[in-house]
Amino acid sequence: MQAHNTPILHPNAASTWINQLCMLKQLCVLLLDEKLNIRMSSNACQAYTRDVIASVIKQFAQALTAPHTNKPITFTTIDDNESLFLEWEALSLPQDDGSMHYLLLGTDDSHAQKLEKENHTLNYILTKVPGFIFWKDKKLNLIGCNENFACQVGLDSTKAISGKSNYELPWDLAQTERFLRDDIEVMTTGQPKLNFEEIQRQADGTQATLLTSKVPIYDIHNRSTGILGMYVDITDQKTIELLQQLRKEKKYAELADQLKTEFIRNMEHDIRTPLGGIAGLATILSMDESDIKRRGYLHDIVESAHELLTYCNSIINYSQIAQGKLPLLSENFSIRSVIDKVITIETPAAHMKGLLLQFECDENVPNTLTGDPRRLQQILLNLVSNAIKFTHQGHVSLNIQCVEQSQHVAYLSMTVQDTGIGIPADKHEMIFEKFNRVNPANSGCYSGTGLGLGIVKQFAEELGGNVTVTSELGKGSTFTCLIPFILTKE
Ligand code: ADP
Repeated sequence: MQAHNTPILHPNAASTWINQLCMLKQLCVLLLDEKLNIRMSSNACQAYTRDVIASVIKQFAQALTAPHTNKPITFTTIDDNESLFLEWEALSLPQDDGSMHYLLLGTDDSHAQKLEKENHTLNYILTKVPGFIFWKDKKLNLIGCNENFACQVGLDSTKAISGKSNYELPWDLAQTERFLRDDIEVMTTGQPKLNFEEIQRQADGTQATLLTSKVPIYDIHNRSTGILGMYVDITDQKTIELLQQLRKEKKYAELADQLKTEFIRNMEHDIRTPLGGIAGLATILSMDESDIKRRGYLHDIVESAHELLTYCNSIINYSQIAQGKLPLLSENFSIRSVIDKVITIETPAAHMKGLLLQFECDENVPNTLTGDPRRLQQILLNLVSNAIKFTHQGHVSLNIQCVEQSQHVAYLSMTVQDTGIGIPADKHEMIFEKFNRVNPANSGCYSGTGLGLGIVKQFAEELGGNVTVTSELGKGSTFTCLIPFILTKE
């Protein structure tokens, strides 16, 4: 048997050279005769089992009988569990008797192969881990990262991260310093910082919510050598959580609204109606009562019932407005009859407090207008009843003027002026906000809900106008509504 495709070693050089080769600790040397029996083997070969050596000879035999090529014979021996990796190269040794011996030189790459395999597996894991991973040295310069991270910071490969500082990544300065502060904390305390949420602003301006962990890295001598950072993008999860929360809150709000509506409905039927009965019957009783003391009591009952009725009315009123239940009317009406109604309703209250209630409607105010008389009446009622409530002596006057008139529209200025307690200048704006009061009911002086002026403002605006106030503490107040009304065609 002769291998033409193995380099030939001259017989004169062979003997001493082979002996020397066999001494080399790392090199496996097998000297085979013509029949592939082992004639000599190096010390290094003793590290391998008989089966491994048999398999080497078998591989070489197959290579010898394989179709001839010009390349020298090389082959690799790998064991069943792939922990062995021997690379062989064969030389032919022609003998004096004309036969051929073979010298097989094997290098053991098992360790390097093992490392490479482990490296490959680690790299593969890093690539497939669903998150962003980076690690830094002691000076907090980046030394490695996975593909996700490299891609996020705009690098072509993970290798390009090596040696970069945080300042070279596409984060703005504030973020960079925030990230670094955490790194320093982990480095100096030696304690991991696990699962904390943070916001990351991307270069394109979008924001992501991250779940981040940072842990110190230690070498085999337990010396700290840097930090490992990992994060996952939980923006979608957060959005879903937020939506679920919003849905829950919407459900609660709807339930609360339903309960409120039911409460208001009950208030209408169960409180306002019997209250009306109490007020009416007490009034009748007081008319028949000759005893002054008892008449006084009955008078107090009537007054209290009316106060409660006003309270109920404004809440019911507000709830109807809030629910958009009051349609905007566009009907012909007489402004003077609206004023008459307001004066009729409010006169008893003014008389009871000894106030003079005056009203004046300028001649230039058209008799009939088109618009929403219900809203207008409510505006005037709220302003006049407030004026009476907050005035203890003097007068309350209601004044209507037409300040401008075009072919189709008349601009009416409606002024309610009083000589009451007045309103401090810094409260002029807030009194128009619902539920805001300068003198809360619990201060004991003036009852009320804080809804009246809110309704006035809303109605005035719905009618295309506005309401303003001028007032000085202790000197009275003037509320002016400027509202346009369509002139009714005669
Ligand atoms: P309420 O009268 O029910 O308290 P309003 O919304 O009508 O609620 O008024 C809000 C607040 O504005 C009142 O509590 C009061 O402090 C102040 N206010 C309104 N009108 C007058 C007025 N004519 N004189 C003095 N203060 C007033």
